[in-house]
Amino acid sequence: MVQQQKFAVSLMEHLVTATFVLDREGYVVIWNKSCERLTGVRAEEVLGTRDHWKAFYAKQRLCLADVLVQERTAELDQLYAVHAQLSIYGEGYKAENWCVMPRIGSRLYLTVDAGPIYDAHGSLIAVVQTIRDNTDYKNAQSKLEKMAITDELTGLYNRRYFTDHLNMEWRRGMRSREPLALIFLDIDYFKQYNDHYGHMVGDDCLKSIATTIQHSLLRATDMATRYGGEEFCILLPNTSLTGALKVAAQVQANINRLQIPHADSPISSSITISAGVASLVPTTEESSSRLTSLADKALYEAKGRGRDQTVASDTC
Ligand code: GH3
Ligand code: MG
Ligand code: MG
Repeated sequence: MVQQQKFAVSLMEHLVTATFVLDREGYVVIWNKSCERLTGVRAEEVLGTRDHWKAFYAKQRLCLADVLVQERTAELDQLYAVHAQLSIYGEGYKAENWCVMPRIGSRLYLTVDAGPIYDAHGSLIAVVQTIRDNTDYKNAQSKLEKMAITDELTGLYNRRYFTDHLNMEWRRGMRSREPLALIFLDIDYFKQYNDHYGHMVGDDCLKSIATTIQHSLLRATDMATRYGGEEFCILLPNTSLTGALKVAAQVQANINRLQIPHADSPISSSITISAGVASLVPTTEESSSRLTSLADKALYEAKGRGRDQTVASDTC
C-alpha cells in the first residue's frame, strides 16, 4: 500500500503537465517538476505552505484550487474572466487568465483545471490543480481576431467591423437618446493619382490619409474605418451635426496640411478629399442604414458641388 502511494506520488512528480496538490487545509502537498519549470518556484519553497499563489501573482489572491478547498466558487466571476465547470470530467473547474509570473518575469496565459478528491466517506481530502501555458495559442488567436476586423493596408478598422459596430452604436443611441454622427470621406480624383504616380505610391497616399484621419480624432469612442478603396468613414457616438462638421473640417485641414502633390487633379495641386456628414438620434422606426444613406448622399452632393468640400445632410 505504502509502495503504491509512493508510486502514485512519483507519477505526479514527473507528469508532463504542471501540477500541484493542496490538502483539505489548503497547504501544498505536491508541487511537481513541470510546475517548477513553469513557475520558476522550487518545490521546497512552497511544500507545506499556503504560498503557492506567489508563483502566479504579485499580490495575494486565491488560485483555482483554493476556490475549491474553501468552497468559494461564487467568487469565480471576480477571479477569472473565463471559467467553467468541468461537468463531464466530474466536479472540477476550469479557468483561464493572464499572469505576470513573479519569479520568471514573463506574462503567460494560463489554462488551469482544478479537481477535488474525496475519501470513501465523501469528505474532501485534496484538490489537484493542473496548469497549461496557452500563451502562444492565445496570442495567435488575438492576432487572428485583430486581423479579422482590421484593414491590412491602413491598419484602420475594416468595413465588416464597422457595420457591426454601427449597429451596436445605433442600439446604444436608441437607449441613451443621444445623436450618432457619421462622416463619409472620399479622396478626390484618386484614379488620376494612381494613373499618374502608380499604384504603390497610391497605397502610400492611402496610408498617410488613414493615419491623418486617425490622428484627427479626439474621443476614444470615435471610430475611423477604411470603408472601401479610397473611401473612409468616421463614426462619432454622442455627436451632433455641428460637432461632426467640426471633426470633418479638422480632418480636411490636416489632410490639406500634408500637401501630397497631385499633378493630375483638376482642382488642386495637392490631394483633397470630399466629405458627407449626417447625424441622427437613433430610433426603433429607422435602421442604421438610414444614417449611412444620408451621409452617402451628402458625400455625393459634395462631389457634385465641385469636390474638396464638406456637405451636411440637412443641406442636400
Ligand atoms: P472622385 O473624385 O469622383 O472620387 O474620383 P476618384 O478617381 O477618386 O474615384 P473612382 O471611384 O473613379 O476611383 C477610385 C480609385 O481608387 C480607383 C482605384 O484604382 C483606386 N484604389 C482603390 N483601392 C485602392 C488601393 O488599395 N490602392 C490604390 N493604390 N488605389 C486604390
Ligand atoms: Mg474618390
Ligand atoms: Mg470612391
